[in-house]
This record gives sequence, C-alpha cells and structure tokens, in this order.
Amino acid sequence: MDLRRLGIETLEQLLLHFPREYLDRSRLSSLDELVPGQRATVRGRVMVSSERRPRGGMRILQVLLDDDRGRLQLVFFNQPYMKKLLANGRELLASGEVALFRGQMQMASPEIEVLDESEYQDAQAPGIVPVYPLTKGIRQRWLRGRMASLLERDDLMAELEEILPESWLRESAWPSRREAFRQMHFPESAEAAELALDRFKFEEAFLLQLLGALNRQRNRREKGPVAPAESKLLDKFLAGLPFTLTVAQAKAMDEVLGDMRQGYRMNRLLQGDVGSGKTVVALAAFLPFIEMGMQGAFMVPIEILAVQHFKKWGPTLEALGIHCALLTGSTPAKERRELLTRLADGDIHLIFGTHSLIQDDIRFHKLGLAVVDEQHRFGVMQRASFHEQGKPHVLVMSATPIPRSMAMTLYGDLDLSIIDEIPPGRPPVLSRLVPEAKRGEVFTWLKERVAEDERAFLIFPLVEESDKLELGAATEEYEALRDGEFKGLSCELLHGRMNGVRKAEIMERFASGETRILVATTVIEVGIDVPEATVMLIHNPERFGLSQLHQLRGRIGRGNLKSYCLLILPDELGEGARTRLNLFVAHRDGFKLAEEDLKTRGPGDLFGVRQHGSPDLRLVHPLNDAALVAEARARAQQLVEADPELLAPDLRALRNLLRRLFMDRLLLSGVG
Ligand code: ADP
Ligand code: MG
Repeated sequence: MDLRRLGIETLEQLLLHFPREYLDRSRLSSLDELVPGQRATVRGRVMVSSERRPRGGMRILQVLLDDDRGRLQLVFFNQPYMKKLLANGRELLASGEVALFRGQMQMASPEIEVLDESEYQDAQAPGIVPVYPLTKGIRQRWLRGRMASLLERDDLMAELEEILPESWLRESAWPSRREAFRQMHFPESAEAAELALDRFKFEEAFLLQLLGALNRQRNRREKGPVAPAESKLLDKFLAGLPFTLTVAQAKAMDEVLGDMRQGYRMNRLLQGDVGSGKTVVALAAFLPFIEMGMQGAFMVPIEILAVQHFKKWGPTLEALGIHCALLTGSTPAKERRELLTRLADGDIHLIFGTHSLIQDDIRFHKLGLAVVDEQHRFGVMQRASFHEQGKPHVLVMSATPIPRSMAMTLYGDLDLSIIDEIPPGRPPVLSRLVPEAKRGEVFTWLKERVAEDERAFLIFPLVEESDKLELGAATEEYEALRDGEFKGLSCELLHGRMNGVRKAEIMERFASGETRILVATTVIEVGIDVPEATVMLIHNPERFGLSQLHQLRGRIGRGNLKSYCLLILPDELGEGARTRLNLFVAHRDGFKLAEEDLKTRGPGDLFGVRQHGSPDLRLVHPLNDAALVAEARARAQQLVEADPELLAPDLRALRNLLRRLFMDRLLLSGVG
C-alpha cells in the first residue's frame, strides 16, 4: 500500500522503479586506503557520534567510523533520524565520495546501511546492491527483497514480453527486456547496469516518439478546413501593421499557413521567447478563414490578457470589417447570451476569451482555427475541448523557451514552429542583483523613472494565489509603500484574487499612465504588454523558478526605452539559489537560459515545462540524451511509415504495451 505513494500499482511499474544508485560491495575499501575525491563503500563500527546545532535551525551529525585499520568521519546535515540509527557500537556500510577536510578523511551525506544481527546475512552477500528511492513506510531492505524475489518468478517475468524488434537489440548489443530488468536491479557489473539503463532510456524515448508519430499520422488523416493560397484580408492586415514582421515571424507564419492548406487538421506548437511577437502571427493565421466565412477563437489563461488582446487588436481588426468579441468570466449574463447567439449565427468572426470559450453551451457557426496562448497554463483536457467544435485547426503557443530537442521530446505529436528572434530596436533589458540594503537607493532611482512617464512593476512572490497569509503580506507591503516611500505617486495593487473587472480596470490605468507603479503578484506574469513599463523590481526572487523570472522580465523592454530588471536579494541566500539567479542575470535569451538550466537539472522539475498531461520523462534527459531522442524519433517515424497500424507480428508486444500505457493519451492527444 505504501508502494502507491511511489506511484506503483502494477508489477511492471514496480520493476520500473529503478535504483537511484548502487552500493558496490564487491569492492569494499578498508579505511586506511581511502583516496580523497573517489567514491568508496566501507564497512565499520560507530565509535562516537555527536550532533551540533549551529545557527539557523541547522543540525549537523558527525559520526566517527572505525574498522581496526583506520577511521573515517561521516557527516549528515539535517537528518535528525540518523542520530538514533547510528548509535555507538553499530556496525554499518557507508557509501559516498571521500573528501579530505581539515586533515580528516570525511564522507558527507553518505548512503548508509546498518548491519544488525538479523540483516547480517544479506549484507555479507557480495556484489552490487541497489539503492532505491523510498517513501514513508518502505524500507530499503524490504524493497530489495521484493525486487529480488520478483525477478526470480519465471511465471511473472514471462509476461514481460520483448517490445523492441530483435534486430534493434542485436545492432545495439542491448539485453532483452527481461534481462535488462535483472541488470538494472542486481547488475553483474557497472557496465551491465549501464547498458541496461541505455536500453530503458531508448525504450522510454522511443515509446514517446512512437506515440507522437502515430498521432501526427492520425492528424494527417483527419480532414481540416483548407486555407486559400491567397488572402486579401491577410494582405491588408499585414500592410496596415505599424511594423514589418521579423524574418522569424514571417517564417513561422508561412509554416502555419502552409500547414493549414494541406487539407488535414493542423496541430502545431508556436514557440517563441517572451516579446518575440507571437500574437500577430496567430492573428494573421485567422484571416484566411475569416475571409472564407469561418471563425476564429483566441483563448488565453487569464482575463486581463484576454482584455488586453481584445483592446489592442480589436480596433485594427474591426477596421478590416472583422467582428470581434470578448468573452470572459466577468461577461454579464445578458451580454453573454447575446454573444453566444451571435457566435452560433456566425456574426462574430473572431472571439477572444479565457476558459469561458470552452464551456459546454458554446456553439460556433464554423470554427476554422483555435489558438491557445500560453498553453502550459491549460490542461490537456481543456485544449481538447475545441475538438468538439467541428475539428478546427489548433495552434498552441508557448513562451517557455525550451530547446528544440526538448520540445521534440515533450511534444512529439505536435509540429513545431519557432520564433527565435526579438523584433529589432528594443534596447536589451539590463538585469541586476541588488542587496536588500540598497532598496532605498533603488526606490529613489525608481521614482525618477516614473516621473518621466515610465512605469514600474513591483513584484512580491505569492506562490499560491490562494494563500491568504502571503496575500496579507503583499497587501501590507503595498500599503506601507503607498503611504510611505511612494506617497503622492500613483501606485496600485493587483493580485489574483481580485475580480476580473477590477483587475482589468487597474491594468487599464497602468497602461494609460494614470497609475505609474503597479505592486503585483505573479498575475502579471504572462502576456501583459505595456510598452512604457521599464522597471521590474522583484522581491524574494529566490522563490521564483527561472522560467517565471524570465516571464516577469518579459513584461518590460517591450517598447524602445531602456529597461531594468532588478532582483532584491535577501540577506540569507542559499548557494543553489545564488547560482540560479546569477544564471538569470547572465542570460537574457530565454532559450539559452533554458539550456543552461537544463544542463544542471533534470527535465522533470525543470523550467516549468512539466505540465499536466505531458508525457513522463523519467530516465531521458532531453539535452544530454539528445542523440538518443533523435534516433528514437527517426526509428519511430520509419516504423509508422512502414507499418502505420503496427500490424507486424513482432510488434504485437509493443502494440499491447502502447495500449496499456497510453490509452488515455491516445484518446486525448492530437489536440495539442
Ligand atoms: P509574445 O510573443 O510575448 O506574445 P507579443 O505578441 O505580445 O509577444 O509582442 C510583443 C510586442 O511586440 C507587442 O507590442 C507587438 O505589437 C510588438 N511586435 C510584434 N512583432 C513586431 C515586429 N515585427 N516589430 C516590432 N514590434 C513587434
Ligand atoms: Mg504573448
């Protein structure tokens, strides 16, 4: 039952719960032969253990280990339960990296195994022993035992069929699936474990790519409205823009339009850094359909963004004879009813809105294209909803700038367009870390800026908009600033719990310049476009992820004025946080930033790309394993082209597995 907490419900999932590392007991080192900088596994008895509590709630446990030939100090940080476990006289195995610290051999945060009487037997067993990620109620030893006996059950293991074609295994010298499981859990050698891991990585990448290839192929078979090769409306729109498209925008637009002329439904991801100008590309894509008498829907995750798009583009589009409308949660009931009627009649050509656009009672006359902006904010289900509106083309947009190889991995079923260029003429945003002590100086400087008609954002972190305590803190800060530092200046507060109408009004005053300083939580994180905003001052930046910080920075430097992103650093800042913030200051290109971030971290928790309903990547690192992903993609594509239904006899197991693993995704995917 405790296994459920690890997300394990089936035997196969249990087998796929791989060790996070191994203890190599085949090579125990004695304590007089340790070499600093090398990993080692040692065995010894606890001589002394002592706990220190320096400042800041920190607990440090030091344990002196002895094996008759030498001594080693083990150090544990903030692991209070270790104290009892490592009492004097206990015999144990420790594994970790050896370091020389103040003349003493040391292992910091080693992997530990206590050898009490009853466990003695097993610990004597030589060889390489797995160390699993655990959860409450599950012990290392127990899990090891379960795994070992499971691997010996021929009847059960026989159910685990090979899913990769024989010939691929031979080519890559990979073990069979069953053998690979054995080598993952109880490897004969480090090399054997590595080869097995390789195989499973490929398997993971391949299954995702195969799923993507199948979906892309299925989309190709689904008919979609055909966009005309020429569109006068589009030409007029482009001619009327106050700027010319960048090369990257024009290319992306051609890809989108070209895709929609093929006769099948488009399913495309348009990716571009914040401020790269995705909106105008999306708008252009609607026009050929509107000219044909079809409709468009432009969905965004937050109301102020919907209002902003509508206000900014509505007049331009209306001037071309396009009927635009806005539908959000704040639209009054009567107006909503009227809108719905006009939408069903086809009188509205283009509708901007939030989730309100995908409610059950919405009917389009003929929906040609649905655009989903900032798509990572929506769940798969929500994006799927447009499906029911007569199979329109779907264009999803994202400002999370992830490297192409990673996008390929995560969104295998989408075609991809990338805008990798920022419109010219924008002075780069200057980013700086500012110590808390200098906040006063920064405020003085900030007041000079807003006196010149520039605008400033002051951000306070609010991790959960529902957190009352934090909201209270942000509100207090705001009131103190309003009545103190910023007295006499126009300064307003904006947060996520305000109602939509109020939010829109506040944004409007900020955009017009009536309000110069906006104290806000992260509600402004996505999409907000106020060209006069030149200062972004972020408090407690260590509490934001890199992608969030980058999004926030994207709110300034959108006009032709020099802009500044200042991060106020608290006095105490962890090493990890400092590294991350330095990275942020050093890179203003979101793609570069994402790549740097990816190099040091795993894909899962990374850069905010993990999203509801996205495929799992447990083993594959999209950047480090890029070659493997590319190979998996090529093989998947070949397979699907040669055998679209996967009917070949040696693909039967693969077909079954795919069905088991991805049933729900197969149903849902193909919608972005
Ligand atoms: P994002 O990709 O972050 O959604 P937007 O579409 O909001 O970016 O565009 C950012 C700003 O740049 C908007 O004010 C938009 O009108 C402007 N813009 C878009 N394309 C160009 C261009 N080619 N030249 C100059 N400004 C542009
Ligand atoms: Mg945008």
